[in-house]
Amino acid sequence: MDLRDSSEEARFRARLCAWLDENVPAEPEPATLAERWPYLVAFQQRLYRGGWVALSYPREFGGQGLGPTEEAILSEELGRANAPSLIPLGHLGRPLLTFGTEEQRTRYLQPLLSATEIWCQGFSEPQAGSDLAALRTRATRDGAEWVLSGHKIWTSYGVFADFCLLLARTGPDDSRHRGISAFIVPLDTPGVTVRPIVLANGEEEFAEIHLDAVRIPAANILGAPGDGWQVAMEVVNYERGAVETGYLPKFERYLSELGSVVRNGAVPPDRATLLALGEAAASVEVLRMHCLRTLSDRAAGIPPGPESSVDKLLMTAVEQGLMRVSLSLLTDTTAPGRAEWFGRYLYGRAGSIYGGSAQIQRNILAQRKLGLPR
Ligand SMILES: Cc1cc2nc3c(=O)[nH]c(=O)nc-3n(C[C@H](O)[C@H](O)[C@H](O)COP(=O)(O)OP(=O)(O)OC[C@H]3O[C@@H](n4cnc5c(N)ncnc54)[C@H](O)[C@@H]3O)c2cc1C
Repeated sequence: MDLRDSSEEARFRARLCAWLDENVPAEPEPATLAERWPYLVAFQQRLYRGGWVALSYPREFGGQGLGPTEEAILSEELGRANAPSLIPLGHLGRPLLTFGTEEQRTRYLQPLLSATEIWCQGFSEPQAGSDLAALRTRATRDGAEWVLSGHKIWTSYGVFADFCLLLARTGPDDSRHRGISAFIVPLDTPGVTVRPIVLANGEEEFAEIHLDAVRIPAANILGAPGDGWQVAMEVVNYERGAVETGYLPKFERYLSELGSVVRNGAVPPDRATLLALGEAAASVEVLRMHCLRTLSDRAAGIPPGPESSVDKLLMTAVEQGLMRVSLSLLTDTTAPGRAEWFGRYLYGRAGSIYGGSAQIQRNILAQRKLGLPR
């Protein structure tokens, strides 16, 4: 793959940069989630109106009909422009595109992509996290409806969501992954209770969702009964991909901020500091190279698969490494910016849990890529 922009890509990049110059908000991201959420939604809506969201989705469902290279350029330039983060649930559009009926794609995709309707991901349960196939939320067909009962947990941004892409058991209790189906659940349906979970940092980023005989139309199943595991794998493959999630520009920005801390004299540029920064820079570069390799797969039409576990492990290692360096440099707890880095450090710990823990990613690579026994 030629890593340089073609003349068409260069024109696309120039148009995007000009748009970002005009549209990235001057005011910084609010510190608390309650204030940050409407700020992020407003930016995503503006980005959508500008024609910069869902670049690789088909036009008839709210996308731009472009390809993975344009998506990668967007992600790079958003990072460089220090733009607000995108709402990290856009990957929920992918299974709608793959498994959705024509009616479902037409009804749900455009509002999801434009952030006029917010979605959340209802996979995990109190006894089914790493072992997702152990989930117990049950869906039973009753005439023209499905009736759902159960309990979901760790649902990111659940308190803000209008819809949940939810996994439930439709097969016998011991049917494991074969007996799971995926449903589109409007969260204002009677019988749904969404309760916020307060994190250690005081934010209400998670929710638990209780379903008490919730009735939804039969048409709200996504895919056929029993397709839920395939739907879930499609979601996690996109959720784990470094190119798809666009974390690289964020990490590049963190690295450059750490470099500035040394350049502006807040930390002396001694050997240990330069070594730590050099190692962090090398890890970001490894991730960048890996993203380019993945991008060439996408450009060749290869969708993300179990190898996205490599991305997830790499992203986690880079993020947690950067955060360790930040705290080792900013030892004065009263220094300006230290509290923000500490918050980032704490959040970085979640990287080895969400989207499947680091141990589970290693299991996937061992079994599905290397063919090792369970
Ligand atoms: C920031 C964040 C956002 C999240 N957002 C969502 C969301 O939107 N929707 C959603 O459904 N879920 C979400 N989750 C939940 C997440 O998917 C689960 O926390 C994760 O899959 C782990 O499940 P668990 O917490 O039940 O841990 P457990 O499965 O109980 O695991 C506990 C520990 O045991 C290890 N372990 C378990 N099984 C094995 C094994 N077979 N081999 C080796 N080690 C093993 C794990 O690696 C982990 O260290 C989120 C989590 C976080 C942290």
